[in-house]
Amino acid sequence: MRAIVLDAARSRPEVREVPQPKAPLGGVVVRVAATGLCRSDWHAWAGHDDDVTYPHVPGHELAGVVARVGAGVRRWAVGDRVTVPFVCGCGRCTWCASGNAQVCPEQQQPGFTHWGSFAEYVALHAADTNLVAIPEAADFAAAASLGCRFATSYRGLIGRARLQPGEWVTVIGAGGVGLSAVMIAKAAGARVVAVDRSPDALALADELGADHTLPTHGGRDLTEALSDLTDGGAHVAVDAVGSEETCEAAIFSLRRRGRHVQIGLLPPVDGHPRVPMARAIGWELDLLGSHGMAAADYPAMLALIEAGVLQPQQLIARTIGLAEAAALLPAYADTTAAGITMIDPSR
Ligand SMILES: [Zn+2]
Ligand SMILES: [Zn+2]
Repeated sequence: MRAIVLDAARSRPEVREVPQPKAPLGGVVVRVAATGLCRSDWHAWAGHDDDVTYPHVPGHELAGVVARVGAGVRRWAVGDRVTVPFVCGCGRCTWCASGNAQVCPEQQQPGFTHWGSFAEYVALHAADTNLVAIPEAADFAAAASLGCRFATSYRGLIGRARLQPGEWVTVIGAGGVGLSAVMIAKAAGARVVAVDRSPDALALADELGADHTLPTHGGRDLTEALSDLTDGGAHVAVDAVGSEETCEAAIFSLRRRGRHVQIGLLPPVDGHPRVPMARAIGWELDLLGSHGMAAADYPAMLALIEAGVLQPQQLIARTIGLAEAAALLPAYADTTAAGITMIDPSR
């Protein structure tokens, strides 16, 4: 099969013929129909993820058709249309049993712990725990977008921050996670300010219903501007990027006792990410981590998609082939392209 192969951290990604994966015990092989290009793939390329061993095939937001079924799988058959959360639980531990596979200590992540979906086929583990059937209403590309950015955003706002109607939300970064957050927050009846450096991204946020959009360098102090727009600070803030600056901007956009959701992966400074903890203590802020969403939590989100309340397909800006994706990956962290980029591995 064709796949994007990384021979080493920061090496030039190459499209190459590699052997097809075998179905693991309790797992399946899926023929990939659509797979999203995400900032986390860039982290895998850059060598930031300890789970990655090279040569490596990245890719973790995927949808497709079950092509082979391993021994012990009960719920799935060849031909089923499926997607999967990027964190796949083991299906055996207490965390998985309680519906929290997103924090399973034995988790597998396609594109990190094993070869991922920037390929024609991908192996997925513990299929009965992790696979999600794609509803009729969703196409492969829309379903693929759920696996990481959209579902993580949904879980962060609804499951972790318990967002309430009428509350103010600041979304720092209007990429895939941030635009998903705008859509989900508006559907939940909240009021939203989106912040980004890219005018195109802000225009998309505006189209998705953001009450206000603000450029990162708006001329005025960002914290002050956000405070004015949100009557003294937001109830909930999302760092949808993952940098020292965006994390700080999100936390300082909150009112007292506000809830911060950290979704973007934070690069370490001297071994650990630097977070403004003094403000969290003094203002009694809740700092919430969010790490994907378990398959067990998908039905409520899928019901909103089937009802047309949430429309993840609106976030997809372009579809490209493997060769173009390989060329884009090394520069992905600096991209200013608005919306989600989807890969069709058959191209
Ligand atoms: Zn588990
Ligand atoms: Zn991702």
